[in-house]
Amino acid sequence: MHEMSIVSGILRIVENEARSGNAKKINSIELEIGQLAGIELDSLRFCYQVASKDTMADGAKLIIREIPGMGHCENCNENVSVEFHVAVCPQCNESLMDVFQGRELKVSSINVD
Ligand SMILES: [Zn+2]
Repeated sequence: MHEMSIVSGILRIVENEARSGNAKKINSIELEIGQLAGIELDSLRFCYQVASKDTMADGAKLIIREIPGMGHCENCNENVSVEFHVAVCPQCNESLMDVFQGRELKVSSINVD
């Protein structure tokens, strides 16, 4: 389950951030996760519940913003939505696409006390 290592990484980032701001507690964490990032959100939430115990983020609310997959098809010269890892243009079925959105995985903000 690679979600657990993702969660550990996230917790490390937010704890560092909170410490450098002299915070005592993390209230909420906002994540941006692309729909093509290959992350199971249910599993991510579960891992977070487990891994955040006894950290500064214990009890912090996890807010997940999903970023839809978008790609550019050179054939059609248009931006189209991408739902799968193998980016195929829904209009012309060419796999020429340059996927420019949807693989994000980042902490967009945290709220601390
Ligand atoms: Zn196309």
